[in-house]
Amino acid sequence: MGIIVQKFGGTSVGSIERIQHVANRVVEEAKKGNKVVVVVSAMGKTTDELVDLAKQISDHPSKREMDMLLSTGEQVSIALLAMALHEKGCKAVSLTGWQAGITTEEMHGNARIMNIDTTRIRRHLDEGAIVIVAGFQGVTETGEITTLGRGGSDTTAVALAAALKADKCDIYTDVTGVFTTDPRYVKTARKIKEISYDEMLELANLGAGVLHPRAVEFAKNYEVLLEVRSSMERESGTIVKEEVSMEQHLIVRGIAFEDQVTKVTVYGIKHNLYTLPTIFTALANRGINVDIIIQSATNSEEASVSFSIHTQDLPETLQVLQSLEGANVQYESGLAKVSIVGSGMISNPGVAAKMFEILANQGIEIKMVSTSEIKISTVIDEENMVRAVEALHEAFGLADEAKAAHVK
Ligand code: ADP
Ligand code: ASP
Ligand code: MG
Repeated sequence: MGIIVQKFGGTSVGSIERIQHVANRVVEEAKKGNKVVVVVSAMGKTTDELVDLAKQISDHPSKREMDMLLSTGEQVSIALLAMALHEKGCKAVSLTGWQAGITTEEMHGNARIMNIDTTRIRRHLDEGAIVIVAGFQGVTETGEITTLGRGGSDTTAVALAAALKADKCDIYTDVTGVFTTDPRYVKTARKIKEISYDEMLELANLGAGVLHPRAVEFAKNYEVLLEVRSSMERESGTIVKEEVSMEQHLIVRGIAFEDQVTKVTVYGIKHNLYTLPTIFTALANRGINVDIIIQSATNSEEASVSFSIHTQDLPETLQVLQSLEGANVQYESGLAKVSIVGSGMISNPGVAAKMFEILANQGIEIKMVSTSEIKISTVIDEENMVRAVEALHEAFGLADEAKAAHVK
């Protein structure tokens, strides 16, 4: 008898009917003889609605109270799912994050899970109950409720799977798996059968919202076998694992994109060894996430450095930079980041050149570039984002597996 963790996202528990459908899928898993732990998100758009309520009261609500508010969404769905399972004659118990033993760091809004004490979950499982855990939440050592960042229920599920040494973690969602790019935007997107942890981590970090990046980090660190699949359809989904044997001929595995990018340029600061540490320490101290950094035009006197940030961090970034002596600041919002990801890049030179050429042929100007071993990111105008993704998707042969083998 194994332990299986199942996670159902917001759309999958978006109505009473859907919760009943989820209950059926949970029962199916339990009937195979498995001990089942279920993690659920808040129903439908509940979290967005709660954020909206807070905004109606304050532009800067207390982060502690935001967590108090947002964590209620998941509490509703765990209780309803437990009731639905009871109606089916199953033994089931719902647990909030703290009841499930999930301890996080002392940080509101985007806390990391530090530890999971599985004693209580194991006890319920041993008593023959299906355990339903609220996703996206935990508690600090000082007893404060925290949340794990938007999309964080995936992380609850994978972290529980790791702590319980579960045989598998199934992420049930509103698509049938991980696609070559977001199928909502690109109709020719194709479901990927298998993907490595590293590739999935890049895609998730670069904007593919299908999995929370920290969920993939946990999966990689603890070698949790992960499958992303549909809560509605029966077909098998995408397996995320260490080694991926199939489709090795592919150079690019997937394309991720995100909007709301702003490029900030700081120029005219006196140049010395401490210019970069001064700027970036000041930003880091305010918790501002800086992405691509380009240092250019350094003569002996003056430095110029550009970096990209999330547009929502712009006001705070400008505040920080204005406090630096002599810094002139320019910024450009309305940008997007489009990234190609694939382990095939390691052994294939010329992938960046091909990407730049494809974008140039579309008349799309590239404003920033960054690369790692298995990804190339470009910053472009937001209005060109979807067109760029479509062109890259087509040219790297992602819509058509057979063709991809010949992409040079
Ligand atoms: P859930 O509520 O189940 O967690 P999410 O909305 O967080 O669901 O994630 C699923 C969504 O992720 C899909 O509806 C899809 O639009 C989006 N998505 C973005 N990139 C991808 C991708 N590469 N493959 C599949 N889905 C993707
Ligand atoms: N309910 C939370 C959100 O909407 C967490 C999640 O769904 O994973 O972000
Ligand atoms: Mg999600």
